[in-house]
Amino acid sequence: MSSSHCNTAFIILFLLILSSSKQASSQDSIDFENKNFLNRLNNDSSYLKLKKKVVNEYVHAKPGRWGEFVNGVYEDLYTRQKFIAFTFDACGGEKGNGFDQELINFLKMEKVPATLFISGRWIDAHFSTFLNLSRDTLFEIENHGLNHRPCSIDGESEYGIHGTSNAAEAFDEIEANARKIEAITALRPHFYRSATAFIDEACARLAHELGITAVSFQVLSGDALPNAPVSVIEENVLKNIRPGAIVIMHLNHPEWNTSEAIQKILPELRIMGYHFVRLKDFKLANRKGQL
Ligand SMILES: [Zn+2]
Repeated sequence: MSSSHCNTAFIILFLLILSSSKQASSQDSIDFENKNFLNRLNNDSSYLKLKKKVVNEYVHAKPGRWGEFVNGVYEDLYTRQKFIAFTFDACGGEKGNGFDQELINFLKMEKVPATLFISGRWIDAHFSTFLNLSRDTLFEIENHGLNHRPCSIDGESEYGIHGTSNAAEAFDEIEANARKIEAITALRPHFYRSATAFIDEACARLAHELGITAVSFQVLSGDALPNAPVSVIEENVLKNIRPGAIVIMHLNHPEWNTSEAIQKILPELRIMGYHFVRLKDFKLANRKGQL
């Protein structure tokens, strides 16, 4: 090996060590558990200062509209070309702590980039899997809330899931999980999808103030509907797909038909001329098609 090759090898090795040292290892999992991590943040003066500032701004604010497609929420990619983004939520909790390994294996085998919205409690249940997903450049890790509570500043609920009760809880739901993901992966999330995708307009603004864009979806795959057969998920996606669409699916329910459906959908979309990207690869647009 020539000396210049040797130097290059050393520099690459050094950068690898440097980058890996910023990331967490499996041994750190207890430190990052929601309860312990939030306890640490509650003793972190910079976190508390920011929280106080934001809560003061929103303590008397009106929540605005409540829904999946409200002001301040982005729904598709800003493009007329045949690019689409698959997004997969990992919700966590008693009934949502599964992991669809077959789905992830398929995406890897087909080299399909995807955006993964992960909640803090799913990370707690799958710490080493989460680390592996975050280290795969095919995937972009984004924020699905610390405790998977729909984001509300006045206690709205959806599908029987209680939302955050006030601005302080909304702040923790968004910012604590953003910091948790950043602490583990060395990358701060750019996007936030509220649990259930329902959110109020105040929360969307609050996220924006934290440098985070609230994201909904344009194509509902329907994989979460009870006993949704493969054919229904396939039809929901293929009939509604259009350039720039953000498609919502899940990676935390291996018993659902998500993986089986995507194995049918992908070849069809390729024949239709679609290419697959992550959210961070494009600018996003709201329902009116505006940036
Ligand atoms: Zn969810």
